[in-house]
Amino acid sequence: MTVYDLDLERLTERLVDLGEPAFRAKQLYRQLWRRNATYGEMPDVPKRLRERLTVELPIGVELLDERTADRGATRKVLLELGGRHVIETVLMGYRDRVTACVSSQSGCAMDCSFCATGQMGLLNNLTAGEIAAQVVWARREAHKLPASTPQRVTNVVFMGMGEPFANERPVLGAVARLTDPDGMRLGSRHITISTVGVVPGIRRLPEANDQVRLAVSLHAADDDLRNELVPANRLWPLGELVEAIAGWRERTHHRPSIEWVMIGGVNDSDEQATKLAPIAFGLHAHVNLIPLNATPGWPMRPSPSRRIDGFVRVLERAGVNVTVRDTRGRGIEAACGQLRWEHDRSVAAAR
Ligand code: SAH
Repeated sequence: MTVYDLDLERLTERLVDLGEPAFRAKQLYRQLWRRNATYGEMPDVPKRLRERLTVELPIGVELLDERTADRGATRKVLLELGGRHVIETVLMGYRDRVTACVSSQSGCAMDCSFCATGQMGLLNNLTAGEIAAQVVWARREAHKLPASTPQRVTNVVFMGMGEPFANERPVLGAVARLTDPDGMRLGSRHITISTVGVVPGIRRLPEANDQVRLAVSLHAADDDLRNELVPANRLWPLGELVEAIAGWRERTHHRPSIEWVMIGGVNDSDEQATKLAPIAFGLHAHVNLIPLNATPGWPMRPSPSRRIDGFVRVLERAGVNVTVRDTRGRGIEAACGQLRWEHDRSVAAAR
């Protein structure tokens, strides 16, 4: 557990237990969540208390490794959280926004064949505070981004390691921390939860927060191919998944996103595009095509750009809203889970 796991009420209780006046909690909470300060950077909090908090309510974020690309606009880091989990967080600066991509679990049990995190299996769930701490870290670091991008975090996406709806309560807890009007005050509509298609999680999301955006990693438009690429499809087949996304849209009136990793010769045919088109159209979805980041554990290659163009054409002709994601962080092991994979390999080699 880290200090970021406590909301203002619980932080107040803890500080009162430590014999501190209640106003200290408010002061500390603002420093932590508005100023993104660590204990060393809180001159208005007595040193004696800060030393005590370092032990009892640690910040719990250590930088282990980092890679930058795109002239500093993409920064991928390996963080150790709560002294026990090693996960990846990515900061991506664009002309008009800065996105922090956070992990919800260390490892992942979903076992998607093309995903480096899936290849390592599930190691641990993160707590709400450990998830939110990644955004605090990103906000602390955003000033180092190049001048061509805003220098503050404007968006948060749950597209790092893990399946958010396999760790649902902590993920929703993290969203609550990030959007707390007494704290960070990030707008829910600037937060996107990306799921492999965990139907119960999609169904419950609007009740917890009807502003958070939803992205679904579809990758295949029939059950045969999807069972292969995304094994979770065997639990929640396409028909059920599409119905759940439609339900989310009806409840929230927001446009869902469909993510589709473009894998050469696997899911990039006109036939798949033709099957995807009515699904995406019916959901009023935005389709995001992501050229595969090849990983060491799987022999497939990204689709050639000609094929991506062909796929886009089929979708556009059917009236579907589609974009090709710019491939951020090429050459820095930017695929989900890859930096952690490398880290484990070098730790093993050093033994
Ligand atoms: N488990 C969630 C969120 C984490 S993955 C989900 O599945 O949506 C975030 C996105 O990265 C997903 O769309 C996932 O399919 C994609 N992804 C994973 N491995 C990839 C790779 N090697 N190349 C490109 N995209 C990848």
